Amino acid sequence: MCRHLGYLGPEVALADLLLEPDHALLEQTWAPTDMRGGGTVNADGFGVGWHRADGTTARYRAAVPMWTDTSFRDVAREVHSGAVVAAVRSATVGMPVVAEACAPFTDGTRLFSHNGRVAGWPDSVAKPAARLDVVDLLSLEAVTDSALLWALLRQRLLAGADPEVAVPELVGEVADAAPGSRLNLLYSDGARLVATTWTHSLWVRQEPAAVTVASEPFGAREGWRAVPDRSVVVASVHDVQVRPLAERGE
Ligand code: GLN
Repeated sequence: MCRHLGYLGPEVALADLLLEPDHALLEQTWAPTDMRGGGTVNADGFGVGWHRADGTTARYRAAVPMWTDTSFRDVAREVHSGAVVAAVRSATVGMPVVAEACAPFTDGTRLFSHNGRVAGWPDSVAKPAARLDVVDLLSLEAVTDSALLWALLRQRLLAGADPEVAVPELVGEVADAAPGSRLNLLYSDGARLVATTWTHSLWVRQEPAAVTVASEPFGAREGWRAVPDRSVVVASVHDVQVRPLAERGE
């Protein structure tokens, strides 16, 4: 299953966050150490999104393994940001291997990633009986479970929902409609990260003026805390909270 990370803190070169550190996301592309639920490498593409100083996002995505994209290495040395979401993808069987299916998804100011799969996709969730807001699958950027989760979340945020509430609520509703799903979601608005654990690994590292959440620890060994399963992490550079998600019957 994919690996993802979110970072908030002082501006860094993307290369110093994603490529250079020991066991960085680049290495997690071919040598992840904690894949749960299938998959051995994350070679079906990758994406990096970052916030600019004015709060808008920019993004680089490609449907190739990160290690083969030598152009990205140059770009990653030049681009600096203090708010980054990145992911490397192991496509769920049956889902298209295209750049548009690679997280992070964005609407220009928000970034979103999903590590996992929606069980019984699409029938389990893409019907009114699932009691989720109905989204036309053909309107999605890519016809994948992750793109649907993003569309559902975005609808709710545009309607005024607080991401700290909307992200865990969506996990609960999808888990009810599609038991057995794996739902590690990651959301960033550039000042706040909201991340869930629902059967996949997640770690958090808090430094004096920075916070990182990641599927697997990288860089300095010290300072990483494992997030318990079925939790939501709400983090800014000043504050990290980890709360249990409400129990759902499965
Ligand atoms: N199910 C999603 C996809 O195929 C995410 C895959 C993953 O986490 N490995 O894009």
